[in-house]
Amino acid sequence: MAAIHTLSLGYVNSFLLQGDQSNILIDTGLPGKEKKLWHQLEGLAIAPESIKLIIITHAHQDHTGGLSTVKQRTGAQVLCHENEAEFLRSGINSRVVTHTWLLKKLMAMVKETKVNPVEPDILIQNEFPLTSYGIDGKVIHTPGHTAGALSVIIEGKSAFVGDIVMKLPLVSKGSYHPVVGQDLEQVYESWQKIIDTGIETIYMAHGKAIPAAHLEKELADYLNRQNFNTGGQA
Ligand SMILES: [Zn+2]
Ligand SMILES: [Zn+2]
Repeated sequence: MAAIHTLSLGYVNSFLLQGDQSNILIDTGLPGKEKKLWHQLEGLAIAPESIKLIIITHAHQDHTGGLSTVKQRTGAQVLCHENEAEFLRSGINSRVVTHTWLLKKLMAMVKETKVNPVEPDILIQNEFPLTSYGIDGKVIHTPGHTAGALSVIIEGKSAFVGDIVMKLPLVSKGSYHPVVGQDLEQVYESWQKIIDTGIETIYMAHGKAIPAAHLEKELADYLNRQNFNTGGQA
């Protein structure tokens, strides 16, 4: 069984999946947090070179900040969805679409920065198995937050979902409702896809891990509302 380690790299979580043969890193945190990453790995007695794969859930800079340095030091391959590849190559953020007044205001204040460009090694479309890395799991396409957003499912039990499920302080109001997303309809479809894998725990990049049942309930409430609004025609 893989051990799951949560790495806190700014206001965002990255995850390290520690397998018997090799380790996998999910996202690389905010720009400038590389030192923090090395420090946390050292605390876990994990050598950077033992990381063989870096999975980028999506090309927002709170997830790809240290990527070029981390790729270089670990020698790991970088995997992303083909829709995100151009953003890694250019170092530019995939489009951030916000759905609350407060977030719109905040985002307007944030200066668009560039991160060091990285050429991804593995581009996927729908699914990618992790068995060759010694981890019983797979990467699946869960679009909505961005067009090429990915989730990682391991051992049929745990899902690492990037930002497709999020709980942000102040703006989320106790819900997992997608306050940031390029296509909200797709977000809910991706929630369904994640739930259908039968996993038990959901690890978010922003927020603490939650039981899948919480998301299931929120999705059911959403679908009920949809059904009500369309007079049962949905
Ligand atoms: Zn994001
Ligand atoms: Zn994020």
